[in-house]
Amino acid sequence: MNWESSDDRRSASGRAAASDRHGAAATAELTNADRNVSRETLPPTPATTEAGAVDVSRETSAAVEPSDTGSADDAGTHELTAVTPPSQTRDDVSRETSFDTPIAREAMQAIHVRNVRQEIWPRPARRRVMTVANQKGGVGKTTTTVNVAVALAQHGLRVLVIDLDPQGNASTALSVEHSAGTPSVYDVLLGSATLDEVAAEVEVAPTLRCVPATIDLAGADIELASQVAREQRLRKAIADYDAEVDYILIDCPPALGLLTLNALVAGEEIFIPIQCEYYALEGLAQLLNTVELVKSQLNAGLDVSTVLLTMYDSRTKLADQVADEVRKHFGAKVIQAVIPRNVRVSEAPGYGQTVMTYDAGSRGAVGYLEAARELAGRGAQR
Ligand code: ADP
Ligand code: MG
Repeated sequence: MNWESSDDRRSASGRAAASDRHGAAATAELTNADRNVSRETLPPTPATTEAGAVDVSRETSAAVEPSDTGSADDAGTHELTAVTPPSQTRDDVSRETSFDTPIAREAMQAIHVRNVRQEIWPRPARRRVMTVANQKGGVGKTTTTVNVAVALAQHGLRVLVIDLDPQGNASTALSVEHSAGTPSVYDVLLGSATLDEVAAEVEVAPTLRCVPATIDLAGADIELASQVAREQRLRKAIADYDAEVDYILIDCPPALGLLTLNALVAGEEIFIPIQCEYYALEGLAQLLNTVELVKSQLNAGLDVSTVLLTMYDSRTKLADQVADEVRKHFGAKVIQAVIPRNVRVSEAPGYGQTVMTYDAGSRGAVGYLEAARELAGRGAQR
């Protein structure tokens, strides 16, 4: 196994390159924001224009000074708490600037994101095995799995993604070979290979690996049916996986069949993405019932620990209603950050990428960055 050591991860060239990319993206954002500031503050009068522009640049730089002065080199010393959360940042802007504009807020957000990108996130005390499940299709399971995985890995954490959907969408997004016959999770479930043998390197981050799913997996339900301990296969494979890893994220297919059952038995935590749409909660009861059943008979330690609101469209009242309802039901399990509906997110897999690399400055990527950061912060406290 060739994960980097903990010191290496702070200086790894891959990581440095990632920071550079992030830096470049952030700079582009800032440049855009600056451009916007000057465009948006054009007349009424030359006097207000100048005063306005100066105010924005002076006050925004003052507000972020503590973390903004840090260079990429000392990024490793950034703690999660060292960066001002966006909500607080916004408050500061409105308090400290003579006017509060959307552009000023955007500039602040861009600076905040640039700082977050340079952080090394804390490791959990022991590895977290998270099953990303929701038996509805198209709610963002795969998108959440791959983007959170890349975000965690870009911040120094060691991550293994297990693609458990015969469609292989996670493998596609991570650009991992998954044509029929490729050694995959199918071989692991049938006992002819170990996870370590089939896990492939993922190019975008040196600490990220992916166990691909191929179309062979489509028949696994039937093939496994006659096997001994058929629902324990993945659990055993994970127990045998002795590589140093901080997060194992399992992307489930959209059904409650034997594959998802294997993932529920294998996982310690369930991570449920919920789409902010009509009927979002419909069907969840079925998942939660299955979870209770698995808990009582097969995996007592299973815990629905994390819920993420995805594809949030701020223009609709409905999205807010769904978000409120989900928060009422799941309380503190719901990650504060919400993933907006954003076309860049859906374009990325077409290029064999996640949005984290396809368009790091997009709202979708920033949403996943914040969500993954929160997940890592919670993980360190468990
Ligand atoms: P699941 O794995 O639950 O079936 P996916 O992650 O494949 O769901 O998402 C379903 C579709 O929605 C995909 O085409 C994906 O690209 C798209 N999608 C997911 N999240 C977003 C988002 N935040 N904004 C826009 N499109 C999204
Ligand atoms: Mg999927």
